Amino acid sequence: MVLIMQTDAPFWDSLVFDGIDDVDVEVVTAAFGTVEVVAKGRAAGAACPDCGRFSDRVHDRYQRRLKDLPLADQGFVIRLTVRRFICGSADCSRRTFAESFSRLAAPYSRFTTRLNHALEQVGLALAGRAGPGWLPIWASARDG
Ligand SMILES: [Zn+2]
Repeated sequence: MVLIMQTDAPFWDSLVFDGIDDVDVEVVTAAFGTVEVVAKGRAAGAACPDCGRFSDRVHDRYQRRLKDLPLADQGFVIRLTVRRFICGSADCSRRTFAESFSRLAAPYSRFTTRLNHALEQVGLALAGRAGPGWLPIWASARDG
């Protein structure tokens, strides 16, 4: 069963994205123990990371799937639509660039920054108490 929640955008904005990045919540669904928030950037455009020129010419869009901290006992996933803009500067060697959500997640990361921090904290806490030879699974996955 897929439950489509009423998109109470201000509620979800403040719960998920408050003080992080300017993001619009479009749809929230809950199914199979996972809450999924579909969202997109709110800014009209972005500055080219190479030349700094602002662009609002959208080249294409793609989706990023970001695992976030669990919400109550539900898994929590953000499906973020990312726009790729065209740099209009003739002097710039970069043709397109993706808008960044630098505070929400590092580029190419599949986890939100706050989930990464939480995992690190849990890993540190467990590492102090565990016996020798024991590693949390994410630590061994990262190192190996
Ligand atoms: Zn540029």
